[in-house]
Amino acid sequence: MPMRMSYLAKLILVAITLIATVQFVTYIAARRALLDATVQSAHSALRVGADVFAQSMTAQADQLKGSVSVLVNDFGFREALATRDAGTIDSALRNQADRVAADRALAIGNDFMLLADTNAKAGALPPQFFELLKAADRDGSIATNIVLDDVPYILVVTPVRSPTRIGWVGMGFALDNTLAEKIKQLTRLDVAFFSDQQGSQQKDSEQGGGGSHYIAGTFSAVETTALAATFGEHLSGQPHEITLNDQRVMQIDVPLTRRGVPLYAVLQLPMETVLEPYYRLSQQMWWLVMAGLLFAIAAAVLVGRRLTQTVRELAGAAVRVSSGDYSARVAVRTRDELGELAHAFNRMQDAVVEREQRIVHQGEHDALTGLANRSVARRELIAAINAAEALGKDPLDKNTHVAVLAIDLNHFKSINDAFGHGIGDRVLCHVAERMQTAVKHSDTVVRLGNDEFLLVLAGVDSALALGIAQRLLGDLAKALHLGELHFSIDAHVGIAVFPDDGASAEVLMRRADIAMARCKQDSANPLATRVARYQNGWEEARMRRLSLVHELRDAIANGGLHLRFQPKLKLSAPEYIGGEALVRWVHPTLGFIGPDEFIPLAESSGHIVELTRWVLNAGIQQIAAWAQLGLAIKLSVNISALDLLNDDLPAYIARTLHLHGVSAQSLCLELTESSVMHEVQRSLMSMQRLRDLGLRLSIDDFGTGQSSLALLKKLPIDELKIDKSFVLKLDQSEDDRVIVHSTIELGHNMGLEVVAEGVETEASRVILRELGCDMVQGFLLAKPLPAAEFTQWVIDHRQRVMEEN
Ligand code: C2E
Ligand code: CA
Ligand code: CA
Repeated sequence: MPMRMSYLAKLILVAITLIATVQFVTYIAARRALLDATVQSAHSALRVGADVFAQSMTAQADQLKGSVSVLVNDFGFREALATRDAGTIDSALRNQADRVAADRALAIGNDFMLLADTNAKAGALPPQFFELLKAADRDGSIATNIVLDDVPYILVVTPVRSPTRIGWVGMGFALDNTLAEKIKQLTRLDVAFFSDQQGSQQKDSEQGGGGSHYIAGTFSAVETTALAATFGEHLSGQPHEITLNDQRVMQIDVPLTRRGVPLYAVLQLPMETVLEPYYRLSQQMWWLVMAGLLFAIAAAVLVGRRLTQTVRELAGAAVRVSSGDYSARVAVRTRDELGELAHAFNRMQDAVVEREQRIVHQGEHDALTGLANRSVARRELIAAINAAEALGKDPLDKNTHVAVLAIDLNHFKSINDAFGHGIGDRVLCHVAERMQTAVKHSDTVVRLGNDEFLLVLAGVDSALALGIAQRLLGDLAKALHLGELHFSIDAHVGIAVFPDDGASAEVLMRRADIAMARCKQDSANPLATRVARYQNGWEEARMRRLSLVHELRDAIANGGLHLRFQPKLKLSAPEYIGGEALVRWVHPTLGFIGPDEFIPLAESSGHIVELTRWVLNAGIQQIAAWAQLGLAIKLSVNISALDLLNDDLPAYIARTLHLHGVSAQSLCLELTESSVMHEVQRSLMSMQRLRDLGLRLSIDDFGTGQSSLALLKKLPIDELKIDKSFVLKLDQSEDDRVIVHSTIELGHNMGLEVVAEGVETEASRVILRELGCDMVQGFLLAKPLPAAEFTQWVIDHRQRVMEEN
């Protein structure tokens, strides 16, 4: 895997490379300059040394000249020279030489004889003197180089006149090691003296060979040899470098006086010494460069760290945010661009949090009312159940309970239909508000849909839940003003309580809903409560209802139903025979199922329309069959509210009657009060059309509904059928007798015939006759009978009537 370089590493690398390059170039340049300066200063040191040397030579020569002139002007000395008094001459010479630290002094007579010499015996004059003396005669006092007894001297020679020349005096100093040391002390340079005998008059001297000849100096023997070997190659009077015995040195050559033997002084510095400060300085510089580099690295690392730390923190924060963790914020350390970036990141994080919360809220709340939705209800309920469960089972502790209230508004659809959805929505919002104020803040108020709501109340048992439900209904019932409009909201509440009514959220929510649906079913009953707590078996009952609904359809279509017929007699006209068709369903596995159970199912599922058609068809066919037997039976058939709203019903009946050649007068339709109440206008019109066909109309179960007399008056009906609940105990209950009596009066006053159903005893029949009731029906006459038995009963009855008359 290729190594991935971190941004920090790259940054530092670039910075360091840059800095290192700059440092290095500077270092090289500085070293170069330093070297130049060092060499230059060495050159000038050599030049100064050469100057100092030359001046000291000149000064020394001048001193010698002065000293010689003292001798020359000394009368005594002149006397001695003239008289050739060797002893005096010698002592005067020595005296004067000592005074100026001359190395040699000599006196020469006019006859070119050496009269006295401080370093040798007097005698013949060395040959090199002749030219010299000539020059001195010509020029007066002269300084010259000369080699005497192998020792080179700087010699000052002056003729002695008295007044004619009587001889010469010379005084000189030797170019020896002592002088060299002295000069070295003065200049701090190594010194060597050389004679360059090329082209000199000493070419053939005893030293032999041409080239340079080393005279004296401050060098060791080895150096001296090497020096001698190279001397003469570089005569330039300028500082220059050469290699001696593998060692670099810098030297300058200084020519001594031009007269006489060519002599040179070489002043020398070992390069080591020359370069020593250079090396020292450049080493210091090197360390400075290194220190600078280290400092730069440290600075780069520090700055880089700072930079990348923020970047890393941002990256880390981005990873956290992407995984949904918004808890931490990026620290804002600086006010620069990085700080701004961190700021911006935090702002972005806030915005993301805000947006996510909004999305979550939208996903969990109803847009209209702002209430939580079903998923929240489930979650909250689960949480509440878990919390309650954790407290254990204690029926007396409210906190071990959770109540679920399913609430359904009544007639909300009609508000929508009548006033439009705008008003409907506002009503819902007010309802939502009232619900929220009716419960604790911690409770969950949910809108499940349309006009259905749900409350999740933690720590609430059934008694408390019933109380809350009642209070809530009271709150909702309070008048709601929307401008000109006033509403009073009516609702049904179903309650299921954990743990008694279910252990899971699903079950509790379902059972609260079942309890609410129960409540609603019973709503036709004025005494029914608006609140119901779930009861054992309701769920099973609903399951049964659901499967029955499904199978009923099948029974209607495939002959699973049959009719029973119950006789209905006129008290005043015994020959009149009526009957009521009552539908029966024998389920293939469940056996007999009563109409009280399946008729409401058929009504709620909409199957009632087909069922009624089936009953009408079968009933009319039966009338036709009886007519064939010569029996004119007036048959009553029960009709539901939904049938009344079905516009096709009158046409269907007319068609069927016509088909079987049955007259409309043979058929009576029984309608309950409440079925008419549902949609009064439409029902009225429908009833009118049925009546126009020539059918007889009867109000069934009279006394249980809430119809007003005003409405009753408007109904196009022929008959009132007093509900059997007032008739069954008629012979025992004075109250029932009063009710039945007044009902009969009422019916008669409105021009209606009155029927009593549920007549079980002879005593009741007697009472009904006394009260003027028109017709009776009940077990006293016969139970609902199969068609054949009914036919037989009719035949038997006619027989009895005939016999009685
Ligand atoms: P309903 O229309 O009031 O029918 C009379 C009910 O009273 C019948 O019950 C009948 O058996 C019962 N009954 C008659 N005489 C007596 C008596 O002396 N004592 C007692 N205790 N009961 C008596 P059933 O057949 O069980 O019908 C119940 C209800 O079902 C009916 O009440 C009616 O509302 C409905 N129903 C029955 N057949 C049909 C039908 O074909 N169509 C429609 N829409 N509803 C029907
Ligand atoms: Ca009936
Ligand atoms: Ca009835």
